[in-house]
Amino acid sequence: MPDLPDLIPLDEAQARVLEDVTALPSEVVDIADAPGLVLAEPVRSALTVPAWINSAMDGFAVRGTDIATASVGSPVVLRVLGEVAAGRPPEAGVIEGTAIRIMTGAMLPDGADTVVPVEDTDASAGASDIPAAVAIFAPVRPGDHVRLPGTDVVAGMHLVDAGRACDAAVIALLAATGHASVVVHRRPRVAVISTGDELVPPGRSLGPGQIHDSNSFTLAVQATEAGAEVRRLGIARDSLADLLTLLREAVAWADVVVLSGGVSVGAHDHVKAAFETLGDLALWRVAIKPGRPFAFARATVDGRSVRLFGLPGNPVSVFVTFELFVRPVLRRLAGHARVYDRPTRIARLAEPMRGSSGRHTVSRVVLAPDPDRPDGLLARLSGGQDSYMLASLAAANGMIFIPPDTDLPVGAEVVAWELRGRDG
Ligand code: AMP
Ligand code: MG
Repeated sequence: MPDLPDLIPLDEAQARVLEDVTALPSEVVDIADAPGLVLAEPVRSALTVPAWINSAMDGFAVRGTDIATASVGSPVVLRVLGEVAAGRPPEAGVIEGTAIRIMTGAMLPDGADTVVPVEDTDASAGASDIPAAVAIFAPVRPGDHVRLPGTDVVAGMHLVDAGRACDAAVIALLAATGHASVVVHRRPRVAVISTGDELVPPGRSLGPGQIHDSNSFTLAVQATEAGAEVRRLGIARDSLADLLTLLREAVAWADVVVLSGGVSVGAHDHVKAAFETLGDLALWRVAIKPGRPFAFARATVDGRSVRLFGLPGNPVSVFVTFELFVRPVLRRLAGHARVYDRPTRIARLAEPMRGSSGRHTVSRVVLAPDPDRPDGLLARLSGGQDSYMLASLAAANGMIFIPPDTDLPVGAEVVAWELRGRDG
């Protein structure tokens, strides 16, 4: 009898892989390299923005009191003293009865408190000579169309919390407030290894009994999408020596090693022995379908903690177990507070579905709006559910969880993860 590990519940396995996982050390990176990385420190502004009063429109800088009575029937005509463009200091100030042509973002000249948009004047918009005089057709309220200092950000102000991921808006704010670099948690490094004598890379022809390696691509893409830096180290043959060679290369660099295949109790499955050689092995059969068995080990290499995942070989098991176990670990290493980030919804079944005995069933589904319920979702299977079937995985936009030992009728509610997006 092979030595079968215990069957453990899904949530217990999820908790155990996350045990002692903390955010990776922080480092300073250029803001251009920061997208997706998580701030390790809160950021304050050294600058006040806007730093000076400036125009919100292309138009004419005026004194609000001069144009209070302007209308189409009775325009106010002002003498134009000159122009102020963005990036240049004003050469003159506005005095009673005068205006200065001004561009969006240019400094308001002394004396002016208001900007009249060019559309409310007789001046031509776009490139044109500075007119000698301008007729103003609309009464703009004093103070309109100007941006006052500090109305966006004040020096010393708290800008963003630690733990926030750098997205376009965060990086824009950092750039605008003069931060060229930022302190973030280091990006997790993931090494991916496939195992199996039958595997041939795509692009090479297949001999008898051979198939193309798809798992290393699946995992590399999933890890990249989860924010990691990824290296595909290739295919280990079904020998302990070959596997150990690649694994040693992997742990020397990576924070997380993800390996697929070779974890069952087949005669040529060496992952268990390889993990035992490198770290402390935990071998579980997790109570999910697809997805068991599943090997996990922790190793310490040069003082660094490395986590090794031995995922099942079947391509859909690989995808599902990455989502359930590896993605959350990568998110925590990256510093995210929220590790289960796939948008979670309640969906209703469009067809009856059968659960499995003693295990959660994770099914590939198409989630679509429920015509009968506003904001509701309907789930139907995206195709065959065997764990080697990739076409139905590609057709799916979500996965649902059917509790153990349950058969669900049409309309039953299930928990669904949307796979094309993320929350938080
Ligand atoms: P194993 O766990 O090694 O027994 O593999 C289980 C199933 O997954 C077998 O049908 C393997 O051929 C298949 N498999 C293993 N590794 C890969 C891979 N990298 N790409 C595609 N299929 C694989
Ligand atoms: Mg194998």
